[in-house]
Amino acid sequence: MDFVTLGELLMDMVPAETGRRLTEVSAFSPKPGGAPANVAVAGARLGARTAFLGKVGEDLFGHALAEVLKKEKVDLRGLRFDADARTTLALIAQPTANLNEYIFYRNPGADQRLRPDELDRDLLAHTRALHIGSLSLSDEPSRSATFEAVRLARQAGAFISFDVNFRPALWRAQADAVAQIAAMLPNADLLKVNETELELLTNTREVEAGSALLLARGPKLVVVTLGADGSYFRTAHASGYAKSFKVDAIDSTGCGDSFVGALLTQVVQFGLENIEAHIQDALRFANAAGAITSTRRGAIPALPTAQEVNEFLKKLLPHIGLLSADA
Ligand code: ADP
Repeated sequence: MDFVTLGELLMDMVPAETGRRLTEVSAFSPKPGGAPANVAVAGARLGARTAFLGKVGEDLFGHALAEVLKKEKVDLRGLRFDADARTTLALIAQPTANLNEYIFYRNPGADQRLRPDELDRDLLAHTRALHIGSLSLSDEPSRSATFEAVRLARQAGAFISFDVNFRPALWRAQADAVAQIAAMLPNADLLKVNETELELLTNTREVEAGSALLLARGPKLVVVTLGADGSYFRTAHASGYAKSFKVDAIDSTGCGDSFVGALLTQVVQFGLENIEAHIQDALRFANAAGAITSTRRGAIPALPTAQEVNEFLKKLLPHIGLLSADA
């Protein structure tokens, strides 16, 4: 595999309208979601070989979600079905343009019940990278399963990619989240945060200073996403901004996952150890994928193919060479 992702595959219950609080929304419709699952699809659309490890309920939603990933050519050998817990639901509202409200129906949801003994060891022994988030760290047994998957993948020579993807509604206390994320940091080779997560972990929103503090905690590459402004990276020897592209954005859902999926296809292709020489190309590709996703509604339906990213780049930057996951 080019990369394996581990974590939540769930139903986002998307509100019929914005401008209303969760308690006031007129209706919700189910849409496939879960950041690590989106990242696996993002990679597959870009031509990478990806697999997803996780657990859904033995119910209609669980099977429908599996079908979506299967259609996208994500390898599902590592997907488990739980007869005793439901597929997790994330109810979402957007009362104002800058505020999302979430309630997760997962007490426990099937995704939290993935056990270490249910991991597909063969997949973890044959992948170039393992990508995780923080939702699987919030409770047992999925926390132990995540740490075990990280151990197995590292042992087999893969690098670990960690998107903090902090969701306050899932944690009893913010301090718990910070502690669990901090425990994972030394294992992460590639760390991706947004500005809120940067502040959560370093007490500063200042990307230069904050990224340096994060780099000192283990990762070889730290990437901070900055929405419409693009992204920032730091390695041991280099750092800098990569501007995104001006687009008519209508929905930021899935942008971060699109960005990470695209970045992973590039890092896997160049090799993490050589990434400094290729970082601007890799971030340009990832920014383009994120920018395209912001122009479309939803998460999975908004993820671009390699051809779409390359055409987008060619149109905006006709002087550069083409990049793709399998170039
Ligand atoms: P997250 O907070 O989940 O990391 P962001 O909203 O920062 O996600 O988006 C990830 C990436 O997608 C950004 O770094 C950027 O490259 C791209 N992106 C997101 N929104 C826009 C936008 N409005 N215009 C251009 N690019 C965008």
